[in-house]
Amino acid sequence: MVRKLTAAALATLVVSCAPEPQKPVKVRALVLSGNSEYVPTEVELQTITDIVALEGQVAKMRGGARVVLDSNDPEANAAKTEEAFLRALLKEEGRPVTAHYITDDQGVLWPADFHTWNLVTTYYNLERAWDYFNKVVDVKQAELPQMTAYYFPEFIIADTSDEPMRDNAIFFAPTQSFMVLPFETITKAPLAINASVLTHEYAHMVFNRRVYNGRSLPEPISAWSLSGGTYTPALNVIKSLDEGLADYHAYVASCRSTFGCNKRVLYTSIDGQSESDRDLSKTTCMSRELRELLETANYNSVFSGREYQVGTILASALVNAEQSAADRETLARAVTAAYSDTTTTKPGFNQLAHAALNDQRAFTLAVAAKAIIRHISEFNLKQRVCSQFATRLQIPIEDLVGGVDDCPDSTTTIVGVCESINP
Ligand SMILES: [Zn+2]
Repeated sequence: MVRKLTAAALATLVVSCAPEPQKPVKVRALVLSGNSEYVPTEVELQTITDIVALEGQVAKMRGGARVVLDSNDPEANAAKTEEAFLRALLKEEGRPVTAHYITDDQGVLWPADFHTWNLVTTYYNLERAWDYFNKVVDVKQAELPQMTAYYFPEFIIADTSDEPMRDNAIFFAPTQSFMVLPFETITKAPLAINASVLTHEYAHMVFNRRVYNGRSLPEPISAWSLSGGTYTPALNVIKSLDEGLADYHAYVASCRSTFGCNKRVLYTSIDGQSESDRDLSKTTCMSRELRELLETANYNSVFSGREYQVGTILASALVNAEQSAADRETLARAVTAAYSDTTTTKPGFNQLAHAALNDQRAFTLAVAAKAIIRHISEFNLKQRVCSQFATRLQIPIEDLVGGVDDCPDSTTTIVGVCESINP
């Protein structure tokens, strides 16, 4: 069924008028307007080198790929290197897409079919995320390489289901690529059209490169999954950081958009509880139950799914610490600087996690929070982040203070936000 759909999708893209514009390219994409509607909007793609194949400095789109993750796959299990593992998962690597445009009187390209709208908008959203990380967060272009984005691939996680996955946009570390999956039940904006969702996924890529050295199979995840037994506290923490900070970056990046600051990453794509649970404007607090699970549950059997809850509290703590647009951007840079730092006085998540491979108790939420704190140099902002962490994440103040760059001794919780769960 899906293979048929994918073939059909590609067939519509084969006929092309093959325009050859110079970059930047003026093209229409679906962009969320101030009225909360997706409107065909004239945008400039700054990095595109092939508008027909949708390839450029930021991404290259590939159609017709097939990716299978299966714990019983002999080829994958025999792989001795990450490169071999990646090749084993990629059953079909796909081929360039062919987009189809109509040029208007002003020389602007209009996508001529649905898939071209979806492809162009996907590229545009990835380019905006790339631009945000480069210009606002100060991540060098060398750290943001061209990524393959598989468009409507057949993606199967065999241990879960034989059916290909749908309705998602993913950064998939094992293949070091993005995937824009076919949609089925999402009847609102497809996820790839949603700029916040793609920024969230792009942020996972940056996290993977900095915290996990760009590994397909990150060492902390493998070591902690295997060594944990019933408890995987460090794995629970690092997964929560990855999700929460991805939502936080999606929020900060959205403030540069036509729509404006968007505290709801899934807004316009998904309705209901799972959307509202991720709303960063809501007051969310660490509960005793959630902290107990964070510290004692096994990620793979119990905790999985709750990393979003902890992540949302972390992201909303950061959002509530800002008092200006300048704070927001400073904080986004500080958080990302904390991903990796070889300075001995303020090690990053990367260094802290790799030092704790054999001792999950050494990589706690407080340790990670301190890594962020130490990367904020502006005193007032640091103090506000400290108060937010103590209040919303309920990190005991004594765990946040002490060192030169740590929280000031004067740190207090904020009254009337969260009921304290600490003694
Ligand atoms: Zn995510």
